[in-house]
Amino acid sequence: MGSNSPVDLLAYWRWDNFLSDLDEGAGFNFNSNQPRLHSAIDVGESLWLVTGRPSPHGTAYVLAARLVITAKTHNAAGYRYGRFRLWGDLAKSRYFTHQGPDASALLRGLRFDADRPIAAAHIGQALQTLRALSSADARCLEAWASALTDEPRAYALVDEMALEETLRERPPELGPMLTRTHRGVSDATRARLTSAVSRNRDLVLELRALYQGRCQLCAFDPGTLYAVDLCEAHHIVYLSRGGEDALANMMLLCPNHHSTVHATGAIFDHAGLSYIFPKGRRDPLVLNKHLTAA
Ligand SMILES: [Zn+2]
Ligand SMILES: [Zn+2]
Repeated sequence: MGSNSPVDLLAYWRWDNFLSDLDEGAGFNFNSNQPRLHSAIDVGESLWLVTGRPSPHGTAYVLAARLVITAKTHNAAGYRYGRFRLWGDLAKSRYFTHQGPDASALLRGLRFDADRPIAAAHIGQALQTLRALSSADARCLEAWASALTDEPRAYALVDEMALEETLRERPPELGPMLTRTHRGVSDATRARLTSAVSRNRDLVLELRALYQGRCQLCAFDPGTLYAVDLCEAHHIVYLSRGGEDALANMMLLCPNHHSTVHATGAIFDHAGLSYIFPKGRRDPLVLNKHLTAA
């Protein structure tokens, strides 16, 4: 901190969590209960994720992802994967193939900012604490990553706005659409989304009733003004990226705000219950009866 050169961070990602992220739709974000996930990295810097892939000869430690940080947020109180979350820029971040080469030697060669290389036999254990990298370490990882191929499943995901629109307007087309475009996720995830239609309907009605059809970001009230229901249900963590189809992951937005949130890739922060837009603009919810603060 205070230094001009980016200080990247290295974290361990459990193999099963990495795989379930791919199964549910690569989220390009990472959660932890360690405050260093926020304090030891800044927007624009990189979070490197290492995972341990089981193999007949023991564990192969492979580079799983590089998230170029675009936002740091807090999760809702009690969130099961931790209080802190980092979000990777979708265009700049990468998921690497889960079949990548063993990087154990590379990892043992890292010095870290405190010049404390990994001594333990179990790299996974040595990385349980988030480790700040020196700039030389970051260059080593970059060189290693440049030879890796992308994990195709992280990029074969449906467009979220198209998914929400089909869910809302043309539910019978949802199944074929997911089969065609949402190929990165598991069959189970596709089946769950396809069968979510009727349940989703109920949740949307509940949300509309709760806010009397008003936008939670600007209180626009098309029902009173124009006698139409225009506001749309939005999933805070995208359904296509592992978000739950549950009220705690939904909000009601007017069409303008809904389009703006998607077009800008805005990220919701439960600290302050606000949306973070590019350039750091923050819009707090003006109506909230159901979302829990951090
Ligand atoms: Zn609005
Ligand atoms: Zn949406």
